[in-house]
Amino acid sequence: MSQTTFATLSPFPGRVRLVGAGPGAADLITVRGQNALREADVVLYDDLANAELLKLCRPECERIYVGKRAGSHSVAQTEICDRLVTYAREGWQVVRLKGGDPMTFGRAGEELQALAEAGIPFEIVPGITAAAAAGAVAEIPLTQRGLASAVVFATGHACVDRGAAPVNWRALAGLNATICIYMGTQRFGVIAAELVAGGLSRHTPVAVVADATLPTQEVRLGTLAEGDTLTANPERRPALIVVGEVVRWREFCEAVPAWEAVG
Ligand code: SAH
Repeated sequence: MSQTTFATLSPFPGRVRLVGAGPGAADLITVRGQNALREADVVLYDDLANAELLKLCRPECERIYVGKRAGSHSVAQTEICDRLVTYAREGWQVVRLKGGDPMTFGRAGEELQALAEAGIPFEIVPGITAAAAAGAVAEIPLTQRGLASAVVFATGHACVDRGAAPVNWRALAGLNATICIYMGTQRFGVIAAELVAGGLSRHTPVAVVADATLPTQEVRLGTLAEGDTLTANPERRPALIVVGEVVRWREFCEAVPAWEAVG
């Protein structure tokens, strides 16, 4: 991309907007997020952002895929940070489009740090995070008087070897909270055992919501005792695991006719 053409024409200095694409369905992005895409000169996007959203961009907008399917490795986070800084310095309006909410398990922290260090103006446009979407489509209130007064968002991914603090599942078991687990399908057997060791009943209900808000959406119900048989995920679809008594609440919803069947 050339510095001369755009930077001299643009009334704005280059800037970066981290935009939440929402959980899956294209119409679950915010209006502000749509406007950011319409105004963008460059969009860097990855797997979980619905590709339909890129149709909002102007034809001349450059759309750059930086997700897991880019070659055998995902584009390194440092390279993404470098590119954001470089494009903004060239005077472009840059959008970093991320699935769900950018500030929730979205590596936004590294990107904001790089932008701040480089003195690049940025804005964050929040999105609907997967836990909120999973609760909605599975008809599970994440909080409910008398059942759960707190919600925890936890990662099930074991990145302990890369210096991240491990999740203390036993401690979470004692909180009387709904536990929403991102990236947890592959380790759910271990996680469920830890939650039981921390004091949760083996009969605690669990919902596994895959591809929430997409046509391929699937909700599986079970208990902690079932462990990873509940989360077998050969298609490797993104799935959110909800653990807690609130999962039973959906039984009330089952008595109600489906929305499509009304009127
Ligand atoms: N920033 C994202 C999370 C990225 S981490 C957000 O706020 O939602 C990726 C994990 O998010 C996946 O492993 C899965 O656990 C969850 N996830 C993302 N999209 C999902 C969807 N449509 N349905 C279920 N889980 C989803």
